[in-house]
Amino acid sequence: MSRFLNARYQPLQAYVPGEQPRDAGWVKLNTNESPYAPAEGVVRAAAEAAAGLNLYSDPTCALLRDALAERYGVKRENICAVNGSDEALNFAFMAFGGRGAVFPDITYGFYPVFCQLHGIPFREIPLKADFSIDPAEYFGVNGLVVIANPNAPTGMALPVAEIERILRGNPDGVVLVDEAYVDFGGESCMPLVEKYENLLVVRTFSKSRSLAGARLGFAVGQKALIDDLEKLRYSTNPYNINSMTLAAGRAALMQDDYYMENCAKIAATREATRDALTALGFDVLPSQGNFLFAAHGCMPGEAVNQALRKRRVLVRHFAKERIAGYNRITIGTPQQMRTLVEALRDIVSEGENP
Ligand code: PMP
Repeated sequence: MSRFLNARYQPLQAYVPGEQPRDAGWVKLNTNESPYAPAEGVVRAAAEAAAGLNLYSDPTCALLRDALAERYGVKRENICAVNGSDEALNFAFMAFGGRGAVFPDITYGFYPVFCQLHGIPFREIPLKADFSIDPAEYFGVNGLVVIANPNAPTGMALPVAEIERILRGNPDGVVLVDEAYVDFGGESCMPLVEKYENLLVVRTFSKSRSLAGARLGFAVGQKALIDDLEKLRYSTNPYNINSMTLAAGRAALMQDDYYMENCAKIAATREATRDALTALGFDVLPSQGNFLFAAHGCMPGEAVNQALRKRRVLVRHFAKERIAGYNRITIGTPQQMRTLVEALRDIVSEGENP
């Protein structure tokens, strides 16, 4: 740290993203990316857009927002397009965290970082012993409520009716539903946007639409909420999405069937992997995401993580007491998951017969 850093940011503990190794030969199951390539035409659209890189990108993101509006049955004014959904989260914490924020104790690790960054007081509500969320604990918060649905890293989802109870229980605060993983089996709250002025839904192209490297996300809500986010977007970086990503996103929306088929494949691979891990003695939470959260009673999570790493398989471990036994395992191709399961079979038998 230099002696010039604003005192306000000195205690800030930055978010630590998962590793992105540059060398080949890893089975990479640590950052919840899609194992499948972008749809046909997406890369071409991005390359064509690159020819116009001398000009700024469209700050209104009009064509992309219109395509999203059509896909999700809302209007352009209901959509704020962002540079990865992390950016929508950042704007939302800035915009709606004025009276504090509340989220589960086990959830996306970026939420407390945004709170620290913007000086937002926050409260973490413990998940129940089975890692589920009790909606009643989120009533009467009257600050910003943030729920990842499905939750990460557990993968567990709440039915929309339960989210609706949280919305009704917090008429004076925004309820942000982070639907990064909803396409893999969760139920979306998007249809509730019309009904609730305090609902903000945040989505990403990083997982189900195979565009993690392009950095594209969007928020959906009533016009007044979206206008607030736009105010912050224009006050931060009006050209937040580059021309290639705007074009890639539109091309991706034209091939939605391809992506929805991939999601179904990933969900099927997830269930097969869950059975295989359970047979090896792992406790695996029921997941609606593109990942599993698994612990082995006989081995600490960190030891499993390191043993997998030695076998060139990357998964994610979080150094947090309550979940220290677990690893979050992204669902890859069936072949990648066979490699993972074989590696774990080895590791478990070595652990049991050292
Ligand atoms: N929300 C959740 C719950 C996530 O796990 C992630 C991925 N790290 C994000 C949001 C951010 O995704 P992106 O910025 O790539 O859209």
